[in-house]
Amino acid sequence: MTEGIKLPDGNNIKHIDETGYKYLGIIEGGDIKHLKMKDTIRKEYMQILKAILKSKLNAGNMIKAINTWAVPVIRYSAGIVKWTKTELRNIDQKTRKHMTIHKALHPRENTDRLYITPKEGGRGLPSIEDCVNIENRALGQYLKTSEDEWLKSAWEEGLTKVDEDPQIYRDRRMTNKKEEWHNKPMHGQYMRHTKELASDDTWQWLQRGELKKETEGMITAAEDQALRTRYVQRTIDGNNISPICRKCNTKITINHIASECPALAQNQYKKRHDSVAKTLHWSLCKKHHLPCSNKWYEHQPEGVIENDQAKILWDYGIRIDRVIRANRPDVTLIDKIKRKISLIDVAIPWDTGVEEKEKEKMDKYQDLKIKIRRICDMPVEIVPIIIRTLSTIPRSLKRYLEKLEAEVAPGLMQNSVILETANIVRRVMDSYGGRMQPGTPHYKYHPVELEECDKQNKKI
Ligand SMILES: [Zn+2]
Repeated sequence: MTEGIKLPDGNNIKHIDETGYKYLGIIEGGDIKHLKMKDTIRKEYMQILKAILKSKLNAGNMIKAINTWAVPVIRYSAGIVKWTKTELRNIDQKTRKHMTIHKALHPRENTDRLYITPKEGGRGLPSIEDCVNIENRALGQYLKTSEDEWLKSAWEEGLTKVDEDPQIYRDRRMTNKKEEWHNKPMHGQYMRHTKELASDDTWQWLQRGELKKETEGMITAAEDQALRTRYVQRTIDGNNISPICRKCNTKITINHIASECPALAQNQYKKRHDSVAKTLHWSLCKKHHLPCSNKWYEHQPEGVIENDQAKILWDYGIRIDRVIRANRPDVTLIDKIKRKISLIDVAIPWDTGVEEKEKEKMDKYQDLKIKIRRICDMPVEIVPIIIRTLSTIPRSLKRYLEKLEAEVAPGLMQNSVILETANIVRRVMDSYGGRMQPGTPHYKYHPVELEECDKQNKKI
């Protein structure tokens, strides 16, 4: 990938392998002009970084590209060039600044989170400071344990001073970062609230990294309470503006925008709710060999659809008894082969406990369930499908999906929620909710982003 590192005297360090031990010969024999080396390396790194950020890569590939192309430029210099802590931190800071310029990172988002692995809810960016320190430690351990007399004496001479296992260092740094993030009053709120109920699938969307960098950055910023809603601008930034929603006279917080404003319920939230229900409907049609479009996001459910295997009702009022008010589950599945009926209802709440919401759904359709069972003489079950506004997938969701035997990954429904939430937040913030960040362009995710998700769906 790189031709090696060019030294100021015109020589080239070739054959750089990841462990970097070949540098030793150079250190011993050469007079390295550190300042000049650093300048060259920094410039090359920034050049590559900017090119990556300017590209149309999605969030996941952007991080991969930084890791593969930009970071090695500096990593390979570890152990040769004497970087100071401040210099390394400055490079990390500049990286963040450029990510912000290119809308991949909100300026108020938690910094530690950026470096945590996506599996644990982070963005997965490698920190330059950590990379260089890990390389230094690896080099130190190599010298220390070497059988070679020269290498051993290099260790004894104190050529590299740190004596620590690189893996221990890496783990320690990660733990520190996680603690810092989770303990921040605002930034860590989301993690603290969702810890108990979130399943491992919750961070699928970050692991897949298929969203645009702008969308990923916006959702993580929303989770970190970093978006400048009018309420945040008033209370935290001290701006003299009204924090009240002009549509409903309530404080404009991020949860208000994303899921609690009654003015948005009829259209925006319903659209998001329906897109999840549609995804589920689509997967049930596929399972029972009923006609449906190839792409989940193009699926338009029919009111009633039936074959000899199953009958599926979409948002259909089941008229049995005038007393029963809740008679319109989002999807009703009558499995003719297994002889059972499922009443499926979707909810995308913000802070309401998932368990409470599940119970609410169970209670809501209880009467309908009893009546249908009596009339049809078939087992009837209520299936609440609940995903939280900002992507948390509760542990119970998988269990419910298994009941339906629907071939739909929780991640796919999560995608529908995230994309719609992103759209709502973006639109409301632009019009009356506050400021995303200065100069944020208005952009829509259709259709490229959806196609991208569709490709991913084939894998999940
Ligand atoms: Zn409102």
